[in-house]
Amino acid sequence: MRDLLIEGGSLIVPGSRPGTVAVAAGDLAIRDGIILSVAGRGDLPGDWDPSIIEASGRYVMPGLVNAHGHAAMALLRGYADDLPLEEWLEDRIWPIEDGMEGSDVEAGTSLAVAEMLLGGTTCFADMYFPMHRVAGVCSEMGIRAVLSQGLIGIDADVDRDMDYSRRFAEEWHGARGGRIRVQLGPHAPYTCPPDYLEAVVALAGELGLGIHTHLAETAGEVETIRSRYGKSPAEYFRDAGIFSVGPVTVAHAVHVDRDDLEILAADGVGVAHCPRSNLRLACGIAPTVDILEAGIPVGLGTDGPASSATLDMWEEMRFAGYLQKGIRADARALPAEELLYMATRGGAVALGLEDVGELRPGFRADVIVVNPDRPHMVPGHDVLSSLAYCAGPGDVELVLVEGRPLVRRGHLLAADLEEIVERARRVAVSLTERVEES
Ligand SMILES: [Zn+2]
Repeated sequence: MRDLLIEGGSLIVPGSRPGTVAVAAGDLAIRDGIILSVAGRGDLPGDWDPSIIEASGRYVMPGLVNAHGHAAMALLRGYADDLPLEEWLEDRIWPIEDGMEGSDVEAGTSLAVAEMLLGGTTCFADMYFPMHRVAGVCSEMGIRAVLSQGLIGIDADVDRDMDYSRRFAEEWHGARGGRIRVQLGPHAPYTCPPDYLEAVVALAGELGLGIHTHLAETAGEVETIRSRYGKSPAEYFRDAGIFSVGPVTVAHAVHVDRDDLEILAADGVGVAHCPRSNLRLACGIAPTVDILEAGIPVGLGTDGPASSATLDMWEEMRFAGYLQKGIRADARALPAEELLYMATRGGAVALGLEDVGELRPGFRADVIVVNPDRPHMVPGHDVLSSLAYCAGPGDVELVLVEGRPLVRRGHLLAADLEEIVERARRVAVSLTERVEES
């Protein structure tokens, strides 16, 4: 039995209105990685004997959930900027990815996981390849992960792709006490023809897996899918059966109309909103408030660091809020308590994780402690406002995943940071050399 008491902090707890958080003073009790009691709510057992973590004056909140990304692309950070999506992807990103090997993916993922943990992200969704390398890194470094092998259905070997996905799911779905989960990852409507989607849906049904994908990222995608199939991307996926398996998470949903939102809501599809990536690649601005009002679960995702530059979920939160306030000319749109919910529980719901993302008895103890004493956080009139609008990765002092400390006093315990950085630098140079030679 491992008992842990985080004592005396301001706790970020579920709000009285759905989709919000609130502040409560008190202690947080954890046994064997599960939250037992929050600010006096919940029972402590007779043999309760905790180690104490002193958190007086600190902000204690659920770890951030990064609901969509491609972690290993950390190696390509800054490699191809200021280009439109198609050119960026086809001329720059895909050629260098072609030369990537499993060990490179491992190096990039380690760098990304180190960055995420240090910044307070305790759970992330990742779509890349080959995913058993990513799973190995997550297993070792202790972060929670929802992983999907990216499946591109153009000129694909369907049997090979489905075989890999099956083996990957059998080995890793539910591994490490449920800390690692697997989804199937059909890349996007424009890269997956109907017969390919049929194979994906059949495998998802057979293995009981959810799906992670991109949807309606650009206006061009909507046009392409309309001209190919006479449908919107959401209608195309619905008709292919993609939304009938569960849980389903779609990244972006930038170019969606009322009918699309009705489809997503009716099928319980979650959205990973990636505002910084959408802006940098000039894809547009998602109608996030409309999506939420349609009753669709929304989380936040950084997308790959080649498009969003960093894995900073604090910044992602702010972009999400500022954009909606701006385009709706409404300063009340997406207030702090909703942004913090989206960055934590909202992401977990969008990913189909039942017991993650809230400080609530019975939930997994994925917890971070934030330092309120640095100048940009002072005076802290309002805890939620400070966290949503002032805090950054450098303010995170302690990170627990299932009660296990992975960051303490701002230092990574989970792995050797210097070694990770050194290796990532080496691999990034060799990748660019390889693509120049080819
Ligand atoms: Zn993406």
